[in-house]
Amino acid sequence: TFTLGPKIRNWDQERKTWLDQNPEYPNYVKGKPRIMLLTGSPPKPCDNPIGDHYLLKSIKNKIDYCRLHNIEISYNIAHLDKELAGYWAKLPMIRRLMLSHPEIEWIWWMDSDAFFTDMVFELPLAKYDDYNLVLHGYPDLLFEQKSWIAVNTGSFLFRNCQWSLDLLDVWAPMGPKGPVREEAGKILTANLKGRPAFEADDQSALIYLLLSQKEQWMGKTFLENAFYLHGYWAGLVDRYEEMIEKYHPGLGDERWPFVTHFVGCKPCGSYGDYPVERCLSSMERAFNFADNQVLKLYGFRHRGLLSPKIKRIRNETVTPLEFVDQFDIRRHPSGST
Ligand code: UDP
Ligand code: MN
Repeated sequence: TFTLGPKIRNWDQERKTWLDQNPEYPNYVKGKPRIMLLTGSPPKPCDNPIGDHYLLKSIKNKIDYCRLHNIEISYNIAHLDKELAGYWAKLPMIRRLMLSHPEIEWIWWMDSDAFFTDMVFELPLAKYDDYNLVLHGYPDLLFEQKSWIAVNTGSFLFRNCQWSLDLLDVWAPMGPKGPVREEAGKILTANLKGRPAFEADDQSALIYLLLSQKEQWMGKTFLENAFYLHGYWAGLVDRYEEMIEKYHPGLGDERWPFVTHFVGCKPCGSYGDYPVERCLSSMERAFNFADNQVLKLYGFRHRGLLSPKIKRIRNETVTPLEFVDQFDIRRHPSGST
């Protein structure tokens, strides 16, 4: 059967030895685990050229968040394994990064169609000390309903360790394009509630594993739903004005969603579940909603959530540091400004 590469069995020990020998590359810096955010898009231009513009906005949004929160970032446009094209491409890249960057403690995968919409919120990492995988999801949807949307694989965290390599090894075999992926899709549709008939996707395959091998994987898997590590866009994008009126960044939940994910939209090409115009204008709103939080430090904001144009919100000054003290997100973790 399909493998991601030679079976690695001793990663925890080898990584520990490497970390001991390379103290200039620590996996914890100032007490915080080192994180690398990984995202990517297909190797070729989008069928719909405007899609490439939204990929640009999406990576700008992620660069902004990562710069503000000291997170490293990596962008993949290659198919490291040609059998794992499409949404499965994240698996070999996650494995590759773990093995090539032993100093990274957490790999954070984020889809290209997911935007940070709370630029202040930070992951509650201490909560995940005893876990190796953090997914947005709901236990009842998973174990009672066996729903195919019980967890989402558009934004999730994987610890760099042997456990994660083992999970990738059992997750990947449903992925190879062609008959394997087609046949696996039938098994997934037969077992997961609400799943339409289509080839195996990485999210359904992971849910199937968590259900069928619960004892093996759930002990180290954290299902997060106290904030939107992934937030389904349709219920959020029309409420941004209301959020601005009532709340402030830093909350991360339905009051001010950490991530807005455009599930079912495919502006880059192929067939999506929603009209492409609705997807694009909603993405524009999400991008500008987030970008306003960044521009505030520099004294600007967008004219409206649908406008790429910006306007000045305060006058230039000869004593600029007072604004740094007031607006720098990095030193206002509570988001009170
Ligand atoms: N992706 C990738 N390479 C590809 C296709 C997809 O890196 O060739 C990434 C991209 O970030 C995308 C994610 O995989 O957002 C999920 O794939 P897709 O967009 O097809 O699924 P959706 O996000 O719509 O569920
Ligand atoms: Mn997605």
